[in-house]
Amino acid sequence: MVMLTKSPEETIKFGQRLGAFLKRGDIIGLVGDLGSGKTTLTKGIAKGLNIKNTKYINSPSFVIVKEYEGRIPLYHFDIYRLNSVTALIDIGYEEYFYSNGVVVIEWAKKIKDILPKEHLIIELNIADAGAREILLKPSGKRYAKLIKNVI
Ligand code: ADP
Ligand code: MG
Repeated sequence: MVMLTKSPEETIKFGQRLGAFLKRGDIIGLVGDLGSGKTTLTKGIAKGLNIKNTKYINSPSFVIVKEYEGRIPLYHFDIYRLNSVTALIDIGYEEYFYSNGVVVIEWAKKIKDILPKEHLIIELNIADAGAREILLKPSGKRYAKLIKNVI
């Protein structure tokens, strides 16, 4: 499933629509180069979860996970700087991955071996200065159904 957004606002709108359909325990992995729009999309997802101050959502330098309260909690991982899975084990990632919240992971490819089997990968590609190609790659029935609702 592929779509194209022509501005950051459109990417946020798409994230918001997706966020509105998310349930506790959902796992979303974001893949794409620096500046492809992973954090922008995460802001949209947060809006869809009724999280208030989405302006605070960024790519933190030295924090692996940040937590936000909304309709459902959002656990926003950014593992750009992660050198080994050990650091994730140290912060008890399983408590987040198998929890009552929604998990969004920027740079998810780095941890594909420990991702729960069922998840949604969203790949963002820079099409041009203001446009992004967004690919939805579901694993498992839950996510196949989810993307049908969103598109
Ligand atoms: P990442 O988290 O993948 O590094 P960010 O979301 O932080 O990316 O940054 C994306 C950058 O690209 C922002 O400066 C944003 O304004 C810009 N941009 C331009 N067009 C788009 C688009 N269609 N969707 C998302 N971001 C876009
Ligand atoms: Mg980012």
